[in-house]
Order: sequence, then structure tokens, then C-alpha cells
Amino acid sequence: MGELKNDIQFLPGVGPKRAALIKRELGINTLDELLHFYPFRYIDRSTIVPISSISPDVAYVQIKARVVSRNLINIKHLSVIVDDGTGTLELVFFKGVKWTWERLEPGREFIFFGKPQLFNGKLNIVHPEVDAPQDGPLSKGVLTGVYPSTEKLKSGGITGKVMCKLQSSALALCLQEIGETLPEPIIRTHGLCPLPYAIKNIHFPDDMRALELATRRLKFEELFFLQLSLLKQRYVRSSAENGIPMPRVGAAFHACYNALPYALTGAQQRVIKEIRADLSSGHQMNRLLQGDVGSGKTMVAVLSCLIAVGNGYQACIMAPTEVLAQQHFANIQKYLAPTGVSCALLTGSTSRKDRRPLLAGLASGTLDIIVGTHALIEDTVQYHALGLAVIDEQHRFGVDQRASLWNKGKGSVPPHILVMTATPIPRTLAMTLYGDLDVSVIDEMPPGRKPVQTMLIGENRLPAMYRFIREQIALGRQAFVVYPMIFINEKMEDVSNVEQGYEDILRAFPLEEGYKVAIVHGQQNTETKAFNMQAFVEGRANILVSTTVIEVGVDVPNASVMVIMSAQRFGLSQLHQLRGRVGRGAEKSYCILVRDPKTGAEALRRLELMCSTEDGFEIAEQDMKMRGPGDLEGTQQSGLPVTLNIASLAKDGLLLEEARHCAQGVLDKDPGLEQPQNASLVRELRKDKYNIKDYSNIS
Ligand code: ADP
Ligand code: MG
Repeated sequence: MGELKNDIQFLPGVGPKRAALIKRELGINTLDELLHFYPFRYIDRSTIVPISSISPDVAYVQIKARVVSRNLINIKHLSVIVDDGTGTLELVFFKGVKWTWERLEPGREFIFFGKPQLFNGKLNIVHPEVDAPQDGPLSKGVLTGVYPSTEKLKSGGITGKVMCKLQSSALALCLQEIGETLPEPIIRTHGLCPLPYAIKNIHFPDDMRALELATRRLKFEELFFLQLSLLKQRYVRSSAENGIPMPRVGAAFHACYNALPYALTGAQQRVIKEIRADLSSGHQMNRLLQGDVGSGKTMVAVLSCLIAVGNGYQACIMAPTEVLAQQHFANIQKYLAPTGVSCALLTGSTSRKDRRPLLAGLASGTLDIIVGTHALIEDTVQYHALGLAVIDEQHRFGVDQRASLWNKGKGSVPPHILVMTATPIPRTLAMTLYGDLDVSVIDEMPPGRKPVQTMLIGENRLPAMYRFIREQIALGRQAFVVYPMIFINEKMEDVSNVEQGYEDILRAFPLEEGYKVAIVHGQQNTETKAFNMQAFVEGRANILVSTTVIEVGVDVPNASVMVIMSAQRFGLSQLHQLRGRVGRGAEKSYCILVRDPKTGAEALRRLELMCSTEDGFEIAEQDMKMRGPGDLEGTQQSGLPVTLNIASLAKDGLLLEEARHCAQGVLDKDPGLEQPQNASLVRELRKDKYNIKDYSNIS
């Protein structure tokens, strides 16, 4: 007993040197960790294929063939020709040449196993495994696991075969000791196999069915504990009596509401009600507001802030970029005009002179609402009584930044938090990324939004596109032309691309003919950026050439054309965001995706999907399926709360829902996980791998 916690160096065939290598390369220290290091695929060694059927695109093949000839090309290169009656194949050896030459006598038959590849137009296998037919692997079990590996591991002697051996020794030592982590009723209800069976069969499956059972059990396990941990956090948070009570709606809310030039959509009304209920509940609100571009999230944010103000608190709205913060500020001021509520803008470029009275106003409480960038969470910014923090476009902020807002509350009571995102996040991912948040969705667009016609063109059709834009400009419309943002390093944006594009556009739309073209990119100083942006917003410029600095939020209802250059370089969600910049006015709008000549098939498929749907959630789902959640836009910055070992958010959505539902059921019956049958859950949750950052403890 107690083997599971033992260091891997004591496993037969490991020792301190190899243990250090495995620790460095795979982060595996104990036998327990080793046993939770799973194969990422399996090789079926139950079948022998004829040589004539081999193609270079199969990963591994096993053949049974007779040696025809062996040819020692030099002392480090042996070529062997084998024949199985259906055809011949070359086998190549660069190591163990002498030994192999002696063993592979012409006329003798062997089982060879390896990866076929095309070399100089001919198939061969380099370094196949060689077994005599009688003691061949056929008797050893049919599915062999292949483990993730690195060059350093292989050259340090930890080959695939060695890894299998280590797993086998670890299993022999520990299998008895592996206990059940899930209560019996859960195992029964969800048709799961026992954990020891799963661990044994994930490494050495008895057959395909056993492997499926093992995989499902381990995926469920992983997703279940992840969800249990997230939901428990949420439970702890919502049951704690530490939210600022905001029982009133207040006069400012009504003044703003009554002066609105339009009626709120049903979805906006519903979400505001949800937020109202949170704010008056006495618990802290932690709500994610999802809504497609143009769905009217700003209004919801403003009305929420006014509830805070109506209860004697301050509110802040934080945007990811300077341009966006400015635009929010301008919009919000309009909405606030009838209310008499004070509002100011604070960004990194606010001068020291302007900053002083502003900080004083925040500290004394004379300033009600502050709009800004990351500058809002700097240490020097002290609030008199911050009651609500709205974070726009959450995916651009790290989770740590979200947490730092918690410290800005009054005393030990954190402000309410409303996170808004326009990136439609697939349900499965939202459940994990934001598993600790309540989610509201604005799933209805304000009336009058026209569909955007999307087309994909090659560069050869640029002249036609220019003609089309001229027609639109003649109708009084404006156009965006967006270039991908390319970085030299983390901070420096390479703007040669967009500057070159600017010159092309200037040539096609010359000033002499009355065209005005503005350019915005990340290398400009704030004033230039704001000036050029403003020229476009106010309609003085016909065309705005830019990088994705305009990606989110910028509102120019008169713009009817969105051109996206080198569109294949953008992620789908990002393209969707950009397209959402048009179609906001009453006119018909267009999105033109321009692809580079060398666009690959995969990228083309993505661009064609863009042309076929405007549904942000469908696009997000597809994006995740095509690229995997790790690559999903924005998620890299905020990061998954934990790394998944075997389950996949993209592929195991149904199982994730099942696991979440199950975890919720457990917590509904036993919120504190205090009942004896849940003791194993508590033990398991304490493990590091489920140690999700818990922001409910930060105050
Ligand atoms: P987003 O969700 O992308 O932040 P905005 O809040 O910027 O969307 O709203 C997009 C546009 O729709 C703005 O011009 C806003 O004034 C307008 N809008 C918002 N709500 C409504 C509504 N209920 N009816 C009509 N227009 C609305
Ligand atoms: Mg917005």
C-alpha cells in the first residue's frame, strides 16, 4: 500500500536519471501521475495487412513477410527487401545494423511493424519493429497504446515500448490500491465502469469495447470533477452574504429609460430583470452577458450602472482598448444626459492634469460612473464606494484582471461584476470557461437590422470590388477595409501590410476625385488614432483602412461595406465580429472577404462557412470543431481554468453536459459535500489537478 504516491524512480528500469528526464519532459513524479498519463491513440496489432495494400497515409502497418535480400549500403545503413507474396517492400535500418543484418537472413519469415513512408517515390519503412512469427505481438493483446513523447525522451531511452513496460509495472504495483472516486449511485446511473478497470484498460485494453468503456469513464471523471469544482465555487459565492444590497431602482434609471429613443428588445428587458434580481439579492452578482455584435449590450450596461448609482454606489465600465473606451464614453454620455449622473473617462493616456481631479472625484464619491481601460484597476485608482464593475469584451482580459476588480470594493464587500462578451462562446466552452458565472444571453437583435451579404473573392477581382465601393460611396455610404494584425513581437505591430494597403486604396480612391481615406493602426499615437477614427465616425472619411484595432464595438451605422483583406488569416469568430460592424444602419450591407492566392483547403472551408451563415453561435461551434478549443479565439488569453487530460471540450460536449448535470444534482442534495457518501468527492477535489483558481476567496 502507499505505492501510488511513490516516486517513479523506484520503478524497475527507471532510476534517478530517467526519472529526472520523465519529470522534466512530462511533469510526471509519482506512480499515480504515471498511471494518469494515457495513450493518445492505439495501434491495432491484431491484423496483418498485405504489402500490396499499404499506402503512405496509414499511420502504422503490420506485415508478415520473408526476407528476399539484404544490402549493406554502408556501416550505418542497411536496406532489406521483404516479400509477402502480394508485393515487396524495402525496410531501412540506421541503427543496430550489424545485429539486424545477422538476424534477417534471406528466406526467413518475420512480423514487421512500423510506419510506412514515401521516399523518392517509393514506399519503405524505417526501423520497423521485428518479431519472429511465433513469439510475435499477436499473442500480446490486440490494441497497443501510443503515448505522447518527445525527442528527448526517445533519445534518453524512454521509447514507446519502454513506456508501455513502465505502465505495466506501475499497474502491477498499484492496481489493488486504486480506489473508487465516484459514489456508487453515480456509477450506476451513468453506466460507468469501475475506476481500476478503466485505468487498466486505458493502458492495456482487452478489446475495443473495454477501451470505449475505459475512455468514457475517464472522460466523465475528468469533466465531472471539473464541473463539481466550478459549481461548488459558485455555490459558495452565491450563498455567502457578501453582496452589496441594491434594493432600489432609482430616479436616474427611470430618467434614462424614459428618454430612450427606442423601446428595449424583449431580450434586453429580460436581461435587465435578471441583473436587477441579482443586485437586490444581497449576494454578489457574477454574471456573464453574452450577446452578438449589435445586440444592444451597452444599453444594458448603462441601466445596470444606473441601478448602482440609484443605490448610492459608483460604477465602472472597463473596455479592452482605448478606442473602445472612448466610444463607450461618448455613447454613455448621451444616455446619461437626461439623468444628471456624472461620468468621466480614464485611460492610459489621460494626462496627469486631468487625472488628478478625476481620481479625487472617485475617491470622494462625487464622480458616479467611470469609463476606461485597464487604467481603472491600477493601484492609484481608489473608489469611494464601487458597487458595480462592468467588463466589456471579457475575452481580452485575463481572469486575474477580473479578480483584481474585486479588491476595489468597499471594505471587504466586493462589487457586483457584469462581464459582457460579443464573442458567442459555444455552450460547452462557456460552461467550463465561465462555469463559475451565471449566464445571460441577449438572443434578439434590435429591429431594423438587415442581413449582411457576404462574398468571398480572389485578388484578381479587386478592381471590380473598387468599382462597387465607389457606387456605395456615391450613395453616401462608407466602407471599412481591414488588414490582419501582424506582430513583430508581443508589443510591436508590423504595420507595413496595412500601410501598403492604405497606398493601394489611396490610388484607387484619389483625393483629387473627392475621396477621403483614413487609416488607423496600433503604431499610431493615441491622438492620431482618435482623430482618424473620429473622421470616419463623423462621416468625413469615406473609407477607413485599419488593422483589427476596430474589431470590437466601434459603431458607424452609415458604413455599408466591410472588406477583409487576407481573410484566411482571421479566425471565424473574429471575422464574425468584423462583419458585425456593418448592417447597423437601415441600408443593405456587404462583407467582402478577400483571400490570398495560396489559401489552403481548410481555410477556404472556413471562409465559405462565413458566406453561408450569420449565426454567431453556429460559427463559434464550427470554429471550435475545426480548430479545437485551445485555439479558440480569446480563450488563450483567459485560459481554461484547468488542463484537460483526456476529455475534449470540442468533441465531448454531450458528456460534459451529462457530467455537469450530475455534479449539479450532487450539490443540490449536499451543497457542502458533507454527507459520508460524498467523502470520496471531497478527497478527489483536494487534488492539485482540480485546483481551480477560486476568486470567491479574494477580497
Ligand atoms: P453591442 O451589443 O454590440 O455592444 P450596442 O450596444 O453597441 O451593441 O448597440 C448596437 C446599436 O443598436 C447601437 O447603435 C444602439 O443604439 C442600438 N440599439 C440598442 N438597443 C436597441 C433597441 N432596443 N432598439 C433599437 N436600437 C437599439
Ligand atoms: Mg459593444
